[in-house]
Amino acid sequence: MMKIAKVIIEHPVTSLDIPFDYYIPPHLNVMEGIRVLVEFNHSIITGYVEEVVTMSETLDEYEEKVGFEINPVLNCLDTLPLFTKELQDLAHHLAKVTVSPLISCYQVMLPPSLKPTSSEKVGIKTVKTIKVINESKEELTNKQKEALEYFIANPNLLKKDSLYSDSIIKTLIQKNRIILEDLEVYRNPLDKDYPMVEGPRLTAEQKAVIDEFENTSKKTYLLEGVTGSGKTEVYIHLTKLCLSKNKDVIILVPEISLTPQMVKRFKERLDVGVAVFHSGLTAGQKYDEYRRIARGEVRVVIGARSAIFAPLKNLGLIIVDEEHSESYKQDSTPRYHVLDAALFRVYYHNAKMLLGSATPSLESKTRALKGIYHQLYLLNRINNMPLPPVEIVNMLNEVKKRNYIFSSRLQEEIKNCLINKKQVILLLNRRGYASSLTCQSCGHTFSCPNCEIPLHYHEADQKLKCHYCGYEEIVPSICPNCGSKYIRKNGMGTQRVEEEIKRLFPTARTIRMDYDSVKKEKGYEKILDAFGKHEYDILLGTQMIAKGLDFKDVTLVGVLNADVGLYQLDFRSGERTFQLLTQVVGRSGRGEDEGKAIIQTFNPTNYAIKFAAKHDFVNFYKQEMEYRKLRKYPPYRYLVSLTFLGRNLDEIEVCAQYIKKVIKSYNYDDFVVLGPAQPYIPKIMNKYRMRIMVKYKDKEKMYEILSELKDIMQDYKKIEMHVDTSPYQEM
Ligand code: ADP
Ligand code: ZN
Ligand code: ZN
Repeated sequence: MMKIAKVIIEHPVTSLDIPFDYYIPPHLNVMEGIRVLVEFNHSIITGYVEEVVTMSETLDEYEEKVGFEINPVLNCLDTLPLFTKELQDLAHHLAKVTVSPLISCYQVMLPPSLKPTSSEKVGIKTVKTIKVINESKEELTNKQKEALEYFIANPNLLKKDSLYSDSIIKTLIQKNRIILEDLEVYRNPLDKDYPMVEGPRLTAEQKAVIDEFENTSKKTYLLEGVTGSGKTEVYIHLTKLCLSKNKDVIILVPEISLTPQMVKRFKERLDVGVAVFHSGLTAGQKYDEYRRIARGEVRVVIGARSAIFAPLKNLGLIIVDEEHSESYKQDSTPRYHVLDAALFRVYYHNAKMLLGSATPSLESKTRALKGIYHQLYLLNRINNMPLPPVEIVNMLNEVKKRNYIFSSRLQEEIKNCLINKKQVILLLNRRGYASSLTCQSCGHTFSCPNCEIPLHYHEADQKLKCHYCGYEEIVPSICPNCGSKYIRKNGMGTQRVEEEIKRLFPTARTIRMDYDSVKKEKGYEKILDAFGKHEYDILLGTQMIAKGLDFKDVTLVGVLNADVGLYQLDFRSGERTFQLLTQVVGRSGRGEDEGKAIIQTFNPTNYAIKFAAKHDFVNFYKQEMEYRKLRKYPPYRYLVSLTFLGRNLDEIEVCAQYIKKVIKSYNYDDFVVLGPAQPYIPKIMNKYRMRIMVKYKDKEKMYEILSELKDIMQDYKKIEMHVDTSPYQEM
């Protein structure tokens, strides 16, 4: 009798996505779900043990049967499994739906320090404690006796807390009275104290939502609640209810900037272990949080995308806040959407999932309308405060007055706000910064005649290009719409805006929040803290300030340039703009005083902007769905993007054309194949890229094709194919 470990290893050839057999020498305690060292192709590498199988044969018999030599497992890297059976199954599921190597799915589940390729060496952190092993006081000085008594009276004392000096400790160790023991400690990212607080009394609307959630047997729920309607409060109550049934909870939040406020609200209301997970933690903190969860010391996990893999064993509820957020999609292999993983876990545990948003994704809303999700609403703000009235300012008229950054109306309102000692949030939209062109005279934007998607401006060759179908044109010197020669790149920098604020409002205290300032100066939490305490009058920021912030003194929100998001490369630009504007406008008037908002734009009649200004999701949804239907975009069709990478552009093109032919040869009439086209950034790290997009309806048919394509790609040794089954990323 002997045991075989089925080991998944990291191998560049994806067709080797199958476990390899290694025999387990009797002295090693190899378990399913741990990492081991094995030899492969004459080098020693790390692998994950998927299965341990007991064989009736001897090793010799088994080797004879399979016809090759079986190597031994060399060593174990873990003493406890990192993966449960559930997470193993989830890895297989993700590998299928994202068409990625299994090993990459295992890796994405672990904190970086536990990945075999990691260069970060993170170990367990320990502190020294003092343990008495012999209480005899013979042959000790008075001082030493005193110390020994003190150590007896204080068992497990931390060495650093000892009242007695190192030299006495050393002597007592030499005399075999005490020893130092290592005590494992966690590097806790929540090292602050959060005193428990009482929550507010639920409103009737909140209560109704919670009751309906509890008394319905659907798996997934879409909570559509306007900004400030008390969704977070609903999350907290559902979490408590779930904990009271002895089940665990995962709460996903889109961005790190949401985490401090969110985490605080949960921590001060829940008296169980809460772990946080996001990219801002140190490697050591992540490692420790992961181990706390794996050991069952945590009941609630709050975090960004990767928190969905928290190894909780008894999951009852998954909450996905701001479910429409694009940060829930990973843009490197494996390109999974968090909902793929969440749904899998929900079914596995027979748990429930709540998706919350003021502006659901079109996909989710459509599923709710079809009854796949159960729809819940919070239609009113807390205390029935009105949603802020929104004014749209046409910047074309302002540019003529030489108001390039602040319109007269916005200047006026900022002044009022400052006089009334209230606070202002200004959004500088930097998405797709400077990537599209607009006529400064008439607002004309350049879009693709085939796809109706804004063309991307390529500075290098002075061309406008469509990233979907490959259409391109030379940048015209005059506007085809009005003849003006003022065609400009979109975009302005935060620093320029900051200078303008200083010039116009010299006494205002302004704090800036963008990636630079967050990194350099104080970090999200400090900036938000300071603004929350009203140490500043104006918060100027990029997208990261749009969501989740809850500041009572903010009565004005100004959007400096609503258009930039519109000139995006893909079909989601309208949706994105609507979401962003709705979110940021919703930061206004959350306290006692009514708020307002001003949106500056060159496209005052654009439907995404118009409906966002009216807080009208219903009509936005209607119009956007018509466009999606006409153009065969999600949610009417699925999309898959195939990106080909290699060092030789001609070879890539030939390969991509051939792949396109193969897809078309299937002759599925619901398939639309676009491209190959060169993406915006045609070359990354010396590799050229080409992309094919396929619109389709039948997922099973698509998986069938993709697996054939993977086989075909084995013949193209110099070209990689990246598959993205839910592409968001502009390229
Ligand atoms: P959302 O997540 O929908 O934007 P929040 O949960 O942040 O809304 O609630 C908005 C504000 O109203 C917060 O300051 C919150 O503390 C407060 N709030 C929520 N529910 C209640 C309630 N039932 N009674 C009083 N205040 C509430
Ligand atoms: Zn024009
Ligand atoms: Zn096009």
